[in-house]
Amino acid sequence: MTLSEVFNHIEANHPKALEDLAGLCRIPSVSAQGRALGDAASATRKLLESIGSPAEEYSTGEGPPVVFGEIRADQALPTLLMYNHYDVQPEEPIDEWRSDPFDPVVRDGMFFARGSADTKGNIAAQVAAARAFLAVEGNVPVNLKFVVEGAEESSAASFTRFVREHGHLLAADGATIEGGYHNEEGLPQIALGCKGDYYVELRCRTARIDQHSSVAAALPNPAWRLVECLRTLRSPSGRILIDGWYDNAPKPTPEELSWLRRSSFRAQRLKDVYGAQWLYGGEGDLAVLKRLIYSPTCTISGFVSGYTGEGCKTVNPAEARVKLDFRLLPGMMSEEADAKLRAHLKRGGFDDIEVTVFEPLEPSAIPLDSPIAHATIQAAVDVYPQPPDVRPWSPGSSTHYFFNKVVGVPSVSGPGVGYDGSAVHAPNEHIRIRDFINGAKHFAALMARMAGNPAVGGGP
Ligand SMILES: [Zn+2]
Repeated sequence: MTLSEVFNHIEANHPKALEDLAGLCRIPSVSAQGRALGDAASATRKLLESIGSPAEEYSTGEGPPVVFGEIRADQALPTLLMYNHYDVQPEEPIDEWRSDPFDPVVRDGMFFARGSADTKGNIAAQVAAARAFLAVEGNVPVNLKFVVEGAEESSAASFTRFVREHGHLLAADGATIEGGYHNEEGLPQIALGCKGDYYVELRCRTARIDQHSSVAAALPNPAWRLVECLRTLRSPSGRILIDGWYDNAPKPTPEELSWLRRSSFRAQRLKDVYGAQWLYGGEGDLAVLKRLIYSPTCTISGFVSGYTGEGCKTVNPAEARVKLDFRLLPGMMSEEADAKLRAHLKRGGFDDIEVTVFEPLEPSAIPLDSPIAHATIQAAVDVYPQPPDVRPWSPGSSTHYFFNKVVGVPSVSGPGVGYDGSAVHAPNEHIRIRDFINGAKHFAALMARMAGNPAVGGGP
């Protein structure tokens, strides 16, 4: 195995890979607005065909097509599935872009275009990695499957339908999904899963209509009632007070802790980015990182009741509503959370409060020693001068559960081509070209590591 030659090929041919990326980014495939999705699907298919992958566009009925392509190396070899999306977020607010979001430009070693980080850049980097193996070795080291959907930014329905109808196509030994962004210093951050999100609205109605506030001495106030209820859900330090909430919450393992200790995470930076007043659990880097990863949350996302406009309005409102966002750890499930919340409300005498549940995202993570996790971490060591930032799962929520349990393929977040400053979903989305080249090498090294080949720079 000549991984260093493959790396050289990626390095030398990166202008071609950036051209591929520019071609994809010129298509304004905004799924929320149904723009140019057919064009983006066929450009993606043609890009896969350009490296000799038979690729097809699969109809998803109402939704945009899913593009699937593969390169078969040898049946006896493992299979790597790479998931991406060709749709992007709307470019608004357009005035804040320094250049046309759909006319890619390179400035100061950075490539600016909507979708460059999320996730058209991944597609171009994966194609560059496969192309390098084909040029150097005449074959790829593992079987490769590319699946690229067109509605990730707006709905789960069309990909879910594709998986229901064609799920067998996705059989693989491991999958990469979006994420894996580099930190400021250019080191990759790999997450082996994600938290889940159980999101509810609590609604309290205490009267048919709003009242003059003089009657508040005798009539109930729904905002107070919700506040009283909310105070029973969480302690001032952030601990959730619902019975049994932590029953299935995992604790850090010694191996996970050893990775977290090596993390480049800086609590101060987190505070500075948002101009936040304080951090829970002290200011130590490891303490804050552990809280981000191992603490379930109960967050008031919004609270509405009565009058908050100019001046005063002496009203006793009839209704109050609050939106609550509960992040769950792998091992906890939304159904269980729902039952516990409802039991808590009932026990506390709050059964007049109505609960509406939004579609949950389940938490899910794979162990550090699972083959795809191991290969992705080792591959990062092959490419980067320092070990990657590895997290057992990310504090946010993503589609790991869907891949791990529904598709049935263990998944990791990363490799990626973006970085923390990529302005994903925001104006001036961009990637750093160095991260793009390293991301392509990381994909190449992952392919080699999955095949079990000795790679440059250290044993397996
Ligand atoms: Zn996105």
